Amino acid sequence: MGKGYNGFVLKMMRAKDYRLTVESTEALTDEYVRIGFAGGGLLKDHSTHPTQFIRMWIPEAGSETLHHRGYTIIDQDPESDRFWIEFALHDGPATHWARGASAGDEIECTVMGSDFVLPEPLPAEFLIFGDTASLPAINSLLDAIGDVPARVCLEWQYESDSSLPVRAKPHHLVTWVQRLDDGRLLREHVEQLDCPANAFAWIACDSATTRSISKCLQTVHGLPKTAIKARGYWK
Ligand SMILES: Cc1cc2nc3c(=O)[nH]c(=O)nc-3n(C[C@H](O)[C@H](O)[C@H](O)COP(=O)(O)OP(=O)(O)OC[C@H]3O[C@@H](n4cnc5c(N)ncnc54)[C@H](O)[C@@H]3O)c2cc1C
Repeated sequence: MGKGYNGFVLKMMRAKDYRLTVESTEALTDEYVRIGFAGGGLLKDHSTHPTQFIRMWIPEAGSETLHHRGYTIIDQDPESDRFWIEFALHDGPATHWARGASAGDEIECTVMGSDFVLPEPLPAEFLIFGDTASLPAINSLLDAIGDVPARVCLEWQYESDSSLPVRAKPHHLVTWVQRLDDGRLLREHVEQLDCPANAFAWIACDSATTRSISKCLQTVHGLPKTAIKARGYWK
């Protein structure tokens, strides 16, 4: 199967490809699976950082072209070149692949564009907005920010979502809101926030919600663009 136009562009940009091997799978809920991978050399070539992501090449029965999807790698162990990916399950080629994955399966990925670094100096508070697709990245962020306070607001779609592990410490406040009307509750939550001037916002929801939260933080709360890291994780 080919990688299509996306694969061509990444090749032109000299992005490196790796072949990952599934080592373990664990259902965290009926709608969420955690898969352990051997990295095929990936962690020998790329240093780890919070919210680190790869571009997976997902096969689909009946399709000539592999699908290109972003996924976050977590709990990286550079020594053994191992990491985990947690898949929020819904209905798409990546989800179907993850549901059926078992030890020994192989899948290709490309590394390009993952370069997040924590702001310097650290902000007074992190404001973090996401959902189950960005929860792995959010957990890596919570691990990395140490003593800095954070408010985390997460959208849930399935009842079981709010039982997923959030790596919050006592100075991190976590709120789950239901995903209704394409993110209305989350948007209202952001409008009503008390937002300190020296906060840093990290946002990764669906693309439209991500854009509207970023806009609200700038226009309603006066947060500068430089204090916001926003990326739509799905459409
Ligand atoms: C940098 C980055 C890191 C990411 N990390 C992760 C990660 O660690 N874990 C993870 O689960 N996802 C992660 N995502 C999101 C993931 O890439 C998307 O959800 C992707 O669209 C899934 O592909 P798919 O083939 O299953 O579904 P698609 O073919 O893309 O979509 C099929 C259908 O499912 C819907 N859909 C897609 N994603 C979601 C969702 N999350 N919730 C509800 N409906 C959805 C679409 O609207 C569409 O109707 C990340 C995305 C980016 C950009």
